[in-house]
Amino acid sequence: MDNMKVLVADQINQKGIEELEDVAEVVVDTKITPEELVKTIAEFDGIVVRSRTKVTREIIEAAPRLKIIARAGVGVDNVDVETATERGIMVVNAPESTSVTVAEHTMGLILALARKISIADKSVKEGNWDKSLFMGMELNGKILGIIGMGRIGSQVARRAKAFGMEILVRDPYITEEVASKLSVRIIDLQNLLKMSDVITIHVPMTSETKHLISKPEFDLMKENAIIINCARGGIINEDDLYVALSIGEISGAGLDVFEKEPPKGSQLLELDNVVSTPHIGASTREAQRDAAIIVANEIKTVFTGGSPKNVINMPVLDSESLQLIKPYFKLMEKLGKFLIQTAQGNIKEIDVTYCGELSEFPNHDILTRMILQEILNPILNEPVNLVNAQAIANNRGIAVVESKRSDAKGYNSLIRIEMKSDDSDVIVEGIFIKEPKIVHINGYQVDVETEGTMLIARYKDIPGIIGAIGTILGKHNINIAKMQVGRAEVGGEAVMVLKVDQKVSKVVEEEIKGLKEVYEAVAVDL
Ligand code: NAD
Repeated sequence: MDNMKVLVADQINQKGIEELEDVAEVVVDTKITPEELVKTIAEFDGIVVRSRTKVTREIIEAAPRLKIIARAGVGVDNVDVETATERGIMVVNAPESTSVTVAEHTMGLILALARKISIADKSVKEGNWDKSLFMGMELNGKILGIIGMGRIGSQVARRAKAFGMEILVRDPYITEEVASKLSVRIIDLQNLLKMSDVITIHVPMTSETKHLISKPEFDLMKENAIIINCARGGIINEDDLYVALSIGEISGAGLDVFEKEPPKGSQLLELDNVVSTPHIGASTREAQRDAAIIVANEIKTVFTGGSPKNVINMPVLDSESLQLIKPYFKLMEKLGKFLIQTAQGNIKEIDVTYCGELSEFPNHDILTRMILQEILNPILNEPVNLVNAQAIANNRGIAVVESKRSDAKGYNSLIRIEMKSDDSDVIVEGIFIKEPKIVHINGYQVDVETEGTMLIARYKDIPGIIGAIGTILGKHNINIAKMQVGRAEVGGEAVMVLKVDQKVSKVVEEEIKGLKEVYEAVAVDL
């Protein structure tokens, strides 16, 4: 431990440096160039960066002693995590360091709009004293709708409660248990938009959340509604926001983030009922100090043989275990993708059963973590990986049950996953023979390659339904490549799995769901 050496390559809070000095010799060089870094990195066991220093493949490959790369902050875009993982180097960050700071900024924007603080300030400084122009809205007793109840959303809820607000939450990935612990009410998005006086967004930017709030959503909001975005630009459709604010459909917007930053030329900046800040939600001395202390402690933990909690990658497995288990990585990835696209409601439990020969493998932990990673990654802002997947599932109140069974239904090995949510219970079984395959869906035997798009429909087994679904797909120029039908009994419930050559949009999905005897239809991209 005595001869550990850490390079602090970007400016971090002194407190973090002091923590590091307990366990290592610390070199602070916040002006180091990439060329100098490649030359000197070989001496170091750890490196701390913020966003200035790029920890590239070239640098990692020149660092035989390096054990840990610490990002004193959240995003790790400046670190080549893949190369670090290949080399067994941990990458840690401090995702919780900014939550309180961003939540406080959110409260600031809410208050600025509710009490018209920025325009009143401007008016007073212009020499006016127009008390009647700035009639405000009290927060006490009002409804706050929080979209995305992760780290920041939860901190906003705590603060808003102190203001006497009632909290509604839209987050399809938290359970009732977590919500009741936080004393908030889970509700669907439409009702949240209809009922809330203040709406604040704290979801990550994903394909699902891009333009989550557009014209149809503004149309549902109250006239006095205020909307806040301290998450990422692009979650709100800015053109639609401009119209909603201009015609008085809603009363104000607080924006720390924009689709294009800086938002030069944006019409939104011309509106009095917009309060804007230059993406400073996380910019406080305290958040930066906390980030430095958190990562310094992670380094201390690693150097003293402990397990850090914010590792965002994982060192590779030993080669023998890897050989045995590697084929199933792909299967887990596909099963995870399938489950997250077919499940509805808040996930409560994930049961994984390893059947046949695979049940004899001594440790399935990595495969179970892999499925959690696939399921949680699309819905969370923080990177979910093999190291942190289990802990994140625990924190979110998702029970994970692993079991073994010797019978693999005629296959050598089979993996069965049951995902229980508030509104659905999806069971999928997969095998790996040269390629991953899905062989059971909700009790129906199928034989599905895990590539491309498939459409799964549950319907009443009566004549005409297959044709009706085919007609809808044909009308939308979607070609059916393969079709399988499974049923429990004639005239009962049946399941159809269609492999299609084109993507199936939500509109087509809805049209199929609209057929009288179709209970459920869902398109899955694997
Ligand atoms: P988090 O991962 O802890 O929480 C995100 C939450 O969103 C999760 O609970 C997830 O279940 C939920 N979610 C995912 N998809 C959803 C959907 N379609 N509808 C509703 N809920 C959904 O993330 P966090 O740390 O709280 O960060 C939230 C956001 O804040 C991110 O966009 C992040 O980039 C942003 N952020 C902004 C700043 C800033 O400077 N303004 C600083 C830090 C973070």
